[in-house]
Amino acid sequence: MDQEKQATSAERQKRVQRLKKMIILSIVIGILVPWVACAILFAFVFGMHQQWKDANRHLDALTQTVDEQGKKLEELSRILQEEFSNRQKLQDETEKRLELLEAAEAKEEEQALLPEEPKADNRHKVYLTFDDGPSIYTNEILDILKKYDVKATFFVLGKESEEAQQAMKRIVEEGHSLGMHSYTHEYDKIYASKEAFGNDVERIRDYLFQVTGVESHLYRFPGGSSNTVTNVDVHEFIEYLKESDTVYFDWNVSSGDAAQVSLSAETILRNATAGIETRPTSVILFHDMASRRTTVDALPMVIEKLLAMDNVEILPITEDTELIQHVKPRENPQRQK
Ligand SMILES: [Zn+2]
Repeated sequence: MDQEKQATSAERQKRVQRLKKMIILSIVIGILVPWVACAILFAFVFGMHQQWKDANRHLDALTQTVDEQGKKLEELSRILQEEFSNRQKLQDETEKRLELLEAAEAKEEEQALLPEEPKADNRHKVYLTFDDGPSIYTNEILDILKKYDVKATFFVLGKESEEAQQAMKRIVEEGHSLGMHSYTHEYDKIYASKEAFGNDVERIRDYLFQVTGVESHLYRFPGGSSNTVTNVDVHEFIEYLKESDTVYFDWNVSSGDAAQVSLSAETILRNATAGIETRPTSVILFHDMASRRTTVDALPMVIEKLLAMDNVEILPITEDTELIQHVKPRENPQRQK
């Protein structure tokens, strides 16, 4: 019994011991494990934090780099855009120049197809000439010419009145050509001989020079170079003019205003403007005379009609004007003698 009791007590003690151990172990485990776990967790978290910080630093650096690259890219893109727009401008300019060049070439080709110097060929030069003045109408004629800004040619006589001298001066001052038409217009005196003719030419030339300061080298024969009132060969007179460096002009259009019965302004207009566009040069004969009122009346209509025509130029006669002569000078006067 005792033995049984002893055995049971030892066993109980053993169980108690085991229980104690278990309790202690439980306590140790209960306390240690959380601490260890905590420590491990702490270490883990700390490590993670460090890593996160590093990563952040990297990210910042990366972001900065990316920003920098982005700026560089923007700059590059801006430069490229500039370059592009410059090139566009250059291209546009080049295209424009090419177009102009092409147009110029086309024009040149077009012109090459036309006959040479078309302007010179198509041009109709018209010369208004007034014989026998100055007269009571000279100022009115000059006013009309001024109004239309047209220059004419006056073949005047040696008229000595103050009015005539004023008119001669005005003719010169307003840019018209002053030509000689003999001093006296008396056929039998002027055309008596070459010497008489020469004397008359120099008389009127000197007189005009004295009055206006202009030495005239333009001449119109009274009655024209084809006049039939002289017994002396007109070539004698023509030779004199050539010797004195004087050019003579007849006419190829007559206004008819010297007819015995005064013509109407309408008839003068019709006569003076007939066939202008069929000739390169038209020298129109008018008269500046007290008996020729209708010439003055016709003049504005004549000018307006001429100015309305294509390629018509109204000019004063000069020594370079194409010669309109009824009787031509001899080819070689020496040989004919
Ligand atoms: Zn005359």
